[in-house]
Amino acid sequence: MNVVVCVKQIPDPAAPQSLDASHNLDRSGKLILDEADTYGVEMALQLVDKAGSGEVTVVSMGSASDVAGLRNALAMGAAKAVIVSDDSLRGSDSLGTAKVLAAVIGRDMPDLILCATESSDGYTGTTPVQLAELLGLPSVTFAKSVVVEGGSLKVDRQTEAGYDEVTSPLPALVTVTAGVVEPRYASFKGIMAAKNKPVEVLSVADLGLAGAVGQAGARQEITEVVAAESRQAGEKYVDEGDGAEKIVAFLESIKVL
Ligand SMILES: Cc1cc2nc3c(=O)[nH]c(=O)nc-3n(C[C@H](O)[C@H](O)[C@H](O)COP(=O)(O)OP(=O)(O)OC[C@H]3O[C@@H](n4cnc5c(N)ncnc54)[C@H](O)[C@@H]3O)c2cc1C
Repeated sequence: MNVVVCVKQIPDPAAPQSLDASHNLDRSGKLILDEADTYGVEMALQLVDKAGSGEVTVVSMGSASDVAGLRNALAMGAAKAVIVSDDSLRGSDSLGTAKVLAAVIGRDMPDLILCATESSDGYTGTTPVQLAELLGLPSVTFAKSVVVEGGSLKVDRQTEAGYDEVTSPLPALVTVTAGVVEPRYASFKGIMAAKNKPVEVLSVADLGLAGAVGQAGARQEITEVVAAESRQAGEKYVDEGDGAEKIVAFLESIKVL
């Protein structure tokens, strides 16, 4: 069974963040594997292990100037990595990102594609379902458990009320929540092995997407960034024997009662 995990390399959340002149996150510093994607990598490794054959490939779009995040996924046990890195990707929106990921994954369709429900820096949560649509695959979101049995997929899908039991044919795309599995720490042996695992770097032209992605194909643009309004001081009521009435009157004024 072959599984692709879409992983994003993000600026280290522990380091100070800044925006560039176009209001985009400055990604020129150290990049790390988004922790949200470590759950997908672990889930994929466990599914392939259980199937007894196949491999895990991680696919990413972003700068290849620092691939430490991808090496981390390889050190956990993924067999290979593919990254699409190109100056023309600047200003991509999530649909552009999905188009790039679809072009890579569509070259050799795996049995299963795993993504996180949302990334830790952009957190639109829209890329995975767009990717499934572009590839013509069913998508099952918010998985808290994933089982592959007899060529079909069984997912417990987290809902506000509990969970839904969903079955789907393969190939399919699944987004996993942080509770799905406990990601392993890379062993020393894994870290050493990762140094020799292949990391394929592709350009937009390699995928035949020139002009269709990046700023040129984006339908989304950040026009302004403003600081969140600071919270106003609350109103204080002094209880002079009429505290309850004052609270009720206030709640009525804001139509809570
Ligand atoms: C205005 C703007 C400018 C941008 N500029 C750039 C840029 O200059 N360079 C650039 O590379 N990107 C750029 N992007 C793309 C951006 O970083 C995201 O990859 C993309 O918009 C997905 O949104 P998200 O982070 O909210 O992902 P979500 O939809 O929240 O992500 C969910 C899951 O989808 C998968 N996924 C999402 N993004 C990627 C990815 N990039 N690679 C692999 N898997 C992924 C992961 O599994 C992730 O956990 C830009 C986006 C916007 C809106």
